[in-house]
Amino acid sequence: MSVPKQLFDRFTEEISRFLRDGGASEVLDDDLQFGMELQRERLKEREMELDYVFAPRGHFSEGGHGRVWSDGKYRCSMDWRSCSWNRTLIRKGKQFFRDKDDKVLYVTVNDLVKGSASAQAEPYRCPNCGNLTTVGEISRGCPYCGTHFEMEDLFPRVSSYYFVKDFGGTEKEVYGEIKKYMLPSAAVFGGFGLISGILGRNRESIVLAVLGVILMTAFSAGAGAVMGYMIWAFRKLGSLFGEAGKSIGLLFEMGGSRKRFETAMQRFSPEFSYEYFVNKAASLARMIIFCKDPSTLPVYTGEKKENPFSNVLDAQFRGPAALRSFKTDGDYVVARTTVFFEMVREVGGIPVKQNRAVTMDLRKNVMLPFRQGYSIRKVSCSNCGGSFDATRRTTCPYCGSPYRIQDDDWYVTDFRMG
Ligand SMILES: [Zn+2]
Ligand SMILES: [Zn+2]
Repeated sequence: MSVPKQLFDRFTEEISRFLRDGGASEVLDDDLQFGMELQRERLKEREMELDYVFAPRGHFSEGGHGRVWSDGKYRCSMDWRSCSWNRTLIRKGKQFFRDKDDKVLYVTVNDLVKGSASAQAEPYRCPNCGNLTTVGEISRGCPYCGTHFEMEDLFPRVSSYYFVKDFGGTEKEVYGEIKKYMLPSAAVFGGFGLISGILGRNRESIVLAVLGVILMTAFSAGAGAVMGYMIWAFRKLGSLFGEAGKSIGLLFEMGGSRKRFETAMQRFSPEFSYEYFVNKAASLARMIIFCKDPSTLPVYTGEKKENPFSNVLDAQFRGPAALRSFKTDGDYVVARTTVFFEMVREVGGIPVKQNRAVTMDLRKNVMLPFRQGYSIRKVSCSNCGGSFDATRRTTCPYCGSPYRIQDDDWYVTDFRMG
């Protein structure tokens, strides 16, 4: 068993609702929620609404093919489903952009390993009132609204998702698609056959004339059907090559990244997982893309600069990340990482869909323990131990000490498009 079917269903239902209305989420992890909140603010500023509709279809409509691995205190699982995807951007009640496609949706889910003591301190957003607390606190009763939750209610959570174009289909789907090409082609060719049969009819025998017309029509229609099939096959092949062309750069850049990085990081922490890093990088990239002013983000410590992504309306993570360079600097490691997205941007009032990447310098103090479920929305003050939301304020509300992400997790020191 990989990702429970019910969770998958709730995720596809919730993603659109959460992006539109916000509120508490039952399935999205905190980093994903934060990225979507920033995206919601961006859309609101432009008086837009974004709507996704997913419907299961194709060979893998039920999922259940994923794999499971362990990430220290988390049990992670990944699964995929084939679906149809419809996306609509609406501005002031009018359609601004729309696309639809057959996709394979990949979802990574984190579940707490039961009985793990350190899990108690993990940050958690109350599914009832939306306030920040910890797993330990909320299982004793939410300190804000008093609701009690069983551990089973709190996890699992989706930590990452991405889409890949689906070229496959069930027999019925493929047959239906081929028919769309064969039938019109057969009709057109058959029509020509009929006309030329009548014009060139045998003038001596009525029987031979009728037979000739029938044969000519049937033969032409058959040839037309074959032509239709060939047109379908060429188009399919063409789009396969087109899509492969777009991804070939990705494959090239992916080569070797994973192994090199994993080996280097596991020197510092044997629990380090590349999957966790890629998911984290994608979440950080989303925050950068959708933040009005990245210098206000606690995860960004670089200099203030113009956000090259300020016209991005939607950004879909395409799955992979590439490691450009990797170096150590005292107690710190710096990993220049590129995360690949399909973005919809507004350029001169017109929607433009393009593949674009975010390259970031990600830095972390490796002498500190790795905290897999870390969230900047529940940090502890290094001076007094008080906890607060670092996305809302950068100094501790209890003792006034400034918050330093440098003491906690991966953070971004520089970023650019491409
Ligand atoms: Zn609560
Ligand atoms: Zn403090």
